[in-house]
Amino acid sequence: MPTVDPSVRRRSFDEVASGYSLELARQEAERCIQCKNRPCIEGCPVEIDIPTFVRKVAEGDLAGAYTTLSDKNLLPAICGRVCPQEDQCEKLCTLGVRFEPVAIGRLERFVADFAGAMNLVAAESTAETPVPTGRSVAIVGSGPAGLTVAADLAKLGHRVTIFEALHKPGGVLIYGIPEFRLPKAIVEREIHKLTTLGVEIKTNHIIGRTFTVDELFDELHYDAMFIATGAGLPYFPSIPGVNLVGVYSANEYLTRSNLMKAYRFPEHDTPIVRGRHVAVVGGGNTAMDSVRTALRLGAEHAYLVYRRSRDEMPARAEEVEHAEEEGVELLLLTAPSALAGDERSRVRAMTCVRMELGEPDASGRRSPIPLAGSDFSIDVDTVVFAVGQGANPLIRSTTPDLPVRKGGYIVADASTGATSKAGVFAGGDIVTGGATVISAMGAGRRAARAIDAYLRELPTH
Ligand code: FAD
Ligand code: SF4
Repeated sequence: MPTVDPSVRRRSFDEVASGYSLELARQEAERCIQCKNRPCIEGCPVEIDIPTFVRKVAEGDLAGAYTTLSDKNLLPAICGRVCPQEDQCEKLCTLGVRFEPVAIGRLERFVADFAGAMNLVAAESTAETPVPTGRSVAIVGSGPAGLTVAADLAKLGHRVTIFEALHKPGGVLIYGIPEFRLPKAIVEREIHKLTTLGVEIKTNHIIGRTFTVDELFDELHYDAMFIATGAGLPYFPSIPGVNLVGVYSANEYLTRSNLMKAYRFPEHDTPIVRGRHVAVVGGGNTAMDSVRTALRLGAEHAYLVYRRSRDEMPARAEEVEHAEEEGVELLLLTAPSALAGDERSRVRAMTCVRMELGEPDASGRRSPIPLAGSDFSIDVDTVVFAVGQGANPLIRSTTPDLPVRKGGYIVADASTGATSKAGVFAGGDIVTGGATVISAMGAGRRAARAIDAYLRELPTH
């Protein structure tokens, strides 16, 4: 797919990938051989009828392709941009055995963007208005899990309210993933579909503070609840210097830039350090988004410090390639051991140690072992840690009978999202730990079916 030249995009928050033209999209769709056993569908957590939507693109029936897509996927313009298709549908594509698989994600993005540009109405909006069931559901968190469950339950006639702690809905889609990978206008357009379904979104409502889980049942009289609060609590390593000025968690760094629009200073007045020598620690999508944001904020050197090798990096290969093209310097098999500051407590240097790889650990990846005497130092004025995030403790501390496991993640049935607390369901990162947009959406879809069944079993009011 065409992308903006790296020398231009490294200083720009505009989207990196420009998308297919109609001609390119049709050419790509014509490569699909319409397999009888349709393996690609098995790789899609929300079971999109991929061969049908791809065939419609090849035929030039883009409205039909959009109907097929939106029948199963509430957020196709988002999934077409950020889903790891290389590990899902495209991994199972028959063509991939000998050639490049069909570029299913890029076609999904093309169709969704066409629908947005033409103001096409999603499949659900054309369906008949459901008969109200008289039941109401509170959803806590407006990330992909919460949005999906809300849409599915509203389509079944239940009254749905989403409570979101931040001032904008969307979860990581809004505060985490940067504009250059996922334009916020697209997220807002996709979320707008929910309001057309009658879903009410209450922002600036922190459950555990504004209301507790039990108050939502006892005082606001909701019949069921879905908790989808994500895994947004940042972790820091236990090394000296993490409290110095100029040291951020990736969560804070990205939230300032994305949600609070620090990158559009002075138009928006959110402060952010525009470091000249920035080190981002980690190897996942969050680290990659942070280091590429640092470049765009004007860094002369943007280092990505990762303790394993490139093969073990959890980030999408395409994002690593894009980062390198833009000038990110990868310091692989390297871990920070200390940060040093100046007399004003501003971070000035990072001491690093070289690593070698040993036996695989619990995650299946080879574990890094420090090499004695390999210490070296780099000059830095900003450090961003993207070394994992955990569950925010607020809901569990105010809901003592909600079962949680190690790390504070909620214990819920994998196929229904049901917890052992009556009427409370949960899904997405708050159950699995940090995962993907589409896995959170899949959890939302499964929970919606279970919540609907639960509500229909309740005695009449
Ligand atoms: P979230 O998206 O985290 O949403 C949770 C919401 O709940 C938030 O809006 C939060 O404010 C709200 N909330 C929390 N506590 C409360 C409370 N007490 N009361 C009310 N609201 C509350 N996945 C991919 O598939 N592809 C990618 O390219 C990708 N890139 C990523 C980049 C970054 C920087 C990050 C952080 C993650 C990325 N992921 C990616 C992972 C993906 O975004 C998550 O797995 C997904 O968003 C999880 O969805 P969720 O609905 O469970 O939670
Ligand atoms: Fe088309 Fe690939 Fe799916 Fe076969 S597996 S139907 S070639 S997209």
